[in-house]
Amino acid sequence: MKRALIVGSGKSGKGATKLLKKLGYMIYVTDDKQRNLKGVYGDGFLRSLSLIVLSPGIPPNHRILEIAKTYGIDHLCEFELGVLELSCPCVMITGTNGKTTTTLLVHKLLENSGFGVVHLGGNVGIPVSSFAKETAPQDIAILEASSFQLEYKKRSSPHVAVLLNLAPDHISWHGSMESYVRAKLKIFEGQTNDDFAVLNADDELVMRLAKNLQANVYYFSTKSRVKGCFAESGCIYFSDGISTSKVANTSDLKILGEHNLQNALAGVLVSILLGQDFEKIRKNLAEFVGVSHRLEWIKDVDGVSFFNDSKATNPHSTITAMNSMQTDTTIILGGSDKGNEFDEIFLKAPDKIKNFVCLGETKPKLLESAKRCKATNVFEADTMKQAVHLAFNLSKNGDAVLLSPACASFDMFSSYEERGKVFTKIVRGLEKHEDKLKRKTAFKAKNKST
Ligand code: ADP
Repeated sequence: MKRALIVGSGKSGKGATKLLKKLGYMIYVTDDKQRNLKGVYGDGFLRSLSLIVLSPGIPPNHRILEIAKTYGIDHLCEFELGVLELSCPCVMITGTNGKTTTTLLVHKLLENSGFGVVHLGGNVGIPVSSFAKETAPQDIAILEASSFQLEYKKRSSPHVAVLLNLAPDHISWHGSMESYVRAKLKIFEGQTNDDFAVLNADDELVMRLAKNLQANVYYFSTKSRVKGCFAESGCIYFSDGISTSKVANTSDLKILGEHNLQNALAGVLVSILLGQDFEKIRKNLAEFVGVSHRLEWIKDVDGVSFFNDSKATNPHSTITAMNSMQTDTTIILGGSDKGNEFDEIFLKAPDKIKNFVCLGETKPKLLESAKRCKATNVFEADTMKQAVHLAFNLSKNGDAVLLSPACASFDMFSSYEERGKVFTKIVRGLEKHEDKLKRKTAFKAKNKST
């Protein structure tokens, strides 16, 4: 019997277990808690393995990869394992930011498109291996691919590959910006001229680095007319390079900001390339309301609007969020360190960003950055509650408070979702200044009379 070792016992590990069992493997699961793999399993066991499956996040310098090399064991990541077992073509969507939004949007746009089932998976939190064996040739799978998953891509090739944008992120994990970019570009490997590559024509790095592709290349742009999808005078157009047709109005979009227009153009383009008709695209587009923790409006308190952008875990997405704000804003920054630099945040902050509240493990790094960039109105907080209250006190009627940390969340929270939920809960608990005053006066009056 073939034996496989699965590294990581989370959701992906469970997905891989389900798939490999169906493929007739005997399964062993290990986790990083088991420190000495060789000691745990021994030489004979490692020699008997025919496959090692890695969960997302296992870095390229993990000792299991050394073991795989020493013992000549084939190794894959869970994503690649799942994709190779799909019975249908797939769309892979990557980029530094906008992956989840665009993946969910494409999934929505393809409703009633004539495919058997439109599957959704990958980095959106649904392991591909958990449903790969349930796919049929008439289906399509829409997959979000992270740089970690692409790092281990070997033989799979998407029918449609989308590269949304490129900016520094996950540098500690990949070792350098070059390695990060190399991993992202693997999305196009294995494609032929029966396939499609979708590129952001407005992203200089994407245009400079995604060259010599074998697939048919289409573009999306908010700035210029391209072969693909572009926005002009409030309309979304599609051009096949010869003729141009209007697909929708930008006012059909419920997701806001220039970045979401880019995501929408990419999504619309993918669905057109897959044969979806314009009328259904328009209808589905208008029904897509976006994803939680991404520039999500929470509540107005005393005329101050609160936005949760907890998913902004790198400077690129935070700068995008700052540029999307319509009014004077106090931003809450900081979290755990992924090796990113922050100067750009302070240098590129538009005038609307009036105050910076810094928090978390990266607080000292942010403060240094702010000082170097001569930023003013920079404040410190120790907890999310303190940060929210401080931001609220710094704001006046008509202003906004934006949580857009530019950092991961693991210093204080279990995930960006938890961070967003904690922020939302604190915001929902905020009292209007007037209510607070009224309560204080009532309290004083009561205490006087007793
Ligand atoms: P990802 O899955 O790549 O992390 P998300 O759709 O979850 O992308 O969005 C992550 C963060 O990036 C959010 O803060 C969101 O507002 C921002 N964002 C979304 N799309 C883009 C884009 N095209 N360019 C820049 N930032 C974006």
